Amino acid sequence: MVNKMQKQKIADWGNYPVVEAETVRFNQAEQLRVALGEPGEVIAYGNGRSYGDASLQKRVIMTRSFRSFLSFDSASGVVCCESGALLAELLEAFVPRGWFLPVSPGTKFVTLGGAVAADIHGKNHHGEGSFGAHVVSLEVMRADGSIVRCSREEYPEFFALTIGGMGLSGVILNVTLQLKAIESAWVRQQTIRASRLSELMDAFESFDEWTYSVAWVDTLAGGDALGRGMLMRGEHATVEQVQGHSTFSAASQRKLNVPFFLPNGLLNRGTMMAFNSVYYHQNQKPVKERLVHYESFFYPLDAIGNWNRIYGRRGFMQYQFVLPRVTGRVAVEAILKKIQASGLGSFLAVLKLFGEQESFISFPMAGYTLALDFPVCFEVFKLMKELDAMVADWGGRLYLAKDARMDEAMFAKTYPHADDFREAIALLNGGSTRFSSLLSNRLGIT
Ligand SMILES: Cc1cc2nc3c(=O)[nH]c(=O)nc-3n(C[C@H](O)[C@H](O)[C@H](O)COP(=O)(O)OP(=O)(O)OC[C@H]3O[C@@H](n4cnc5c(N)ncnc54)[C@H](O)[C@@H]3O)c2cc1C
Repeated sequence: MVNKMQKQKIADWGNYPVVEAETVRFNQAEQLRVALGEPGEVIAYGNGRSYGDASLQKRVIMTRSFRSFLSFDSASGVVCCESGALLAELLEAFVPRGWFLPVSPGTKFVTLGGAVAADIHGKNHHGEGSFGAHVVSLEVMRADGSIVRCSREEYPEFFALTIGGMGLSGVILNVTLQLKAIESAWVRQQTIRASRLSELMDAFESFDEWTYSVAWVDTLAGGDALGRGMLMRGEHATVEQVQGHSTFSAASQRKLNVPFFLPNGLLNRGTMMAFNSVYYHQNQKPVKERLVHYESFFYPLDAIGNWNRIYGRRGFMQYQFVLPRVTGRVAVEAILKKIQASGLGSFLAVLKLFGEQESFISFPMAGYTLALDFPVCFEVFKLMKELDAMVADWGGRLYLAKDARMDEAMFAKTYPHADDFREAIALLNGGSTRFSSLLSNRLGIT
């Protein structure tokens, strides 16, 4: 592949902001080295599934062509792969052999490099931690073209900085990852309907022995029904439990697509309320159990291609925060009330309960995390600023992979290692090529 530079408009998943950038592709490490020989600011771009500006810069390195599988040990389930491979490609190759991803985000269209750089979390954080916990080792190309092989034993500080480091320590080339053994492609799913927030949180806390749990919250229901929602719990099904289904069958290929941007404003309070009410009442029973394919349990949104276009050309932002468990109950309720009072509804709201995590710069901490989607408009910026103050006062923080607008002071106040992170990146960025993104510039990291 020719290491050719191209000018094009790029964005991440929220389509806000959109920037004109020089993009460079590579499929060999040597081509990347040549590209990094050019002076200036640069950042890696995986599959653009972060929501804001984490992988945007005037010059970006597109990693998707660098995606070969390098090795696999079928006894231990340890795989080594180039960083541009999608989680979807790993699933396709390894589920039929009885191996699954140790941590899955809400979409499988994320690259391995993006999964490490954002230290992504799944529905099993309370028991199995974030993606980085399952990474055995990494190879990273630094700005000067040198390659660092790092792990918990080799260059542990550089390893810790790269996991959750949002691409600022270099371009991750290869990821060696521990997969998880499964007996089938099916998941035993239990759905529990909760008529208010406290009930939903009780359900989370009383059933945390389940491997996977996640809840959908109706942000538009008020009064006694504030925070009503549906908790989904799941376990990989055993061979005995899938009788009647083919153990490792692929999901049906039926897929919808949103072919173009829909008009701005189509998703309004009325349409959202109608949808939420139908969704909430679809389950007649308060608890329902069934066997579902892993695709529909882990990646329901992937069934609709380009669903981000529903929000129109102006784009949308996701506001995802985490709050410590002690303040979480009161704080989530207050935040939901604040959103209701603003008159701005969130179409998608997902609640999870994280377990403990010790890390340098990653997002998770023990407590509740809520992710909310809002179409871009002036009032949303104002609301989010007010929510920032609440999140910070209650000891929480925002997820960098979803952010497009947080300010430097909020980052410094809420990430305990913000200063050390900035210093470490400054040390690494000593040469004429510097890793930085619009996100890192805005937050004063670079
Ligand atoms: C529908 C949907 C659901 C999601 N659900 C979850 C979820 O449940 N949990 C969760 O944690 N996240 C979730 N995400 C966010 C997503 O997992 C992360 O933003 C992830 O980082 C995106 O990876 P990407 O390959 O698209 O990378 P990009 O979005 O292109 O980049 C993300 C960051 O990774 C860096 N990066 C990418 N590749 C490399 C590389 N090779 N070397 C160095 N740095 C690199 C970029 O510089 C950037 O800082 C979701 C996103 C969507 C769209």
